[in-house]
Amino acid sequence: MNDLSSAPQPETPREEGRPTRQRKPDWIRVKAPVSKGYHETRKLMRDLKLNTVCEEAACPNIGECWDKKHATVMILGDVCTRACAFCNVKTGMPRLVDPMEPENVAIAAGQMGLNHIVITSVDRDDLPDGGAGQFVKVINALRRETPDTTIEILTPDFRNKMRPAVEAICEAGPDVYNHNLETVPRLYPTIRPGARYYASLRLLEEVKAHDPMIFTKSGIMLGLGEQRLEVHQVMDDMRSADVDFITMGQYLQPTPKHAKVEDFVTPRAFAAYGSIARAKGFLQVAASPLTRSSYHAGDDFAQMRAAREAKLAKKAAR
Ligand code: SF4
Repeated sequence: MNDLSSAPQPETPREEGRPTRQRKPDWIRVKAPVSKGYHETRKLMRDLKLNTVCEEAACPNIGECWDKKHATVMILGDVCTRACAFCNVKTGMPRLVDPMEPENVAIAAGQMGLNHIVITSVDRDDLPDGGAGQFVKVINALRRETPDTTIEILTPDFRNKMRPAVEAICEAGPDVYNHNLETVPRLYPTIRPGARYYASLRLLEEVKAHDPMIFTKSGIMLGLGEQRLEVHQVMDDMRSADVDFITMGQYLQPTPKHAKVEDFVTPRAFAAYGSIARAKGFLQVAASPLTRSSYHAGDDFAQMRAAREAKLAKKAAR
């Protein structure tokens, strides 16, 4: 049990009774993507026919990330078999899996000189393995072509085929396995109707059961109507599943037909959530309005690895 009575309490506009508003506050504003680095990254993705979640999700950080040649590649096409209320990716019947994709991802990683790469995918409920085999092929191609690049994957929940999918991917040996819980369990029926909160938690547990050395990571969006104590409960659930790294960022409505923003959580409230998460024992915490699963993922990975090494050294010295 965690005694948080002395922990800083986040101010959430919802609890203060402020009205819902859709206009973005100043702390969300970002610069337009115009730099040379941005255009080079864009061209490389086009030339290699790779999709990115940066574009598909209309990520506000694209100008900053692509300028530094950080892009999150989205494998298995650009059409998703689910229709989550927060997500901007197209829904429908996906096309055939591209056999050249693993090689092209490895070429992109090599050309961009990446120390760390993040690979995600659409949901592919239509495939017998949910797309796990393509994750394995991408990891293998990266290990072969760019052996020094550390690999982070952000996978779907592999509904009804989770165990074999997780086993196969863990055998391929990614450095970080991320699966986002996205929101608090109460909001699943409206925000993530095709998924089950406890199935996602089990997936994270399964990764650690299979290989405790793989770092696990999970995130939630804030501003969808969740309450403070519900967020604390999600943190506790993640810690029970031995999740190493939590990310928390502001939900932004991609189009008017997506779920509305209920609250713009202040940077101060994010900082307070971050302190609480650290107190609960996560090795790494990223909490800010513009935090996304893959934002600064390489730097965060290096810090998380250092934190684990320090923890193990301390234990050994006892
Ligand atoms: S935060 Fe992630 S999704 Fe957004 S632009 Fe950066 S790498 Fe892409």
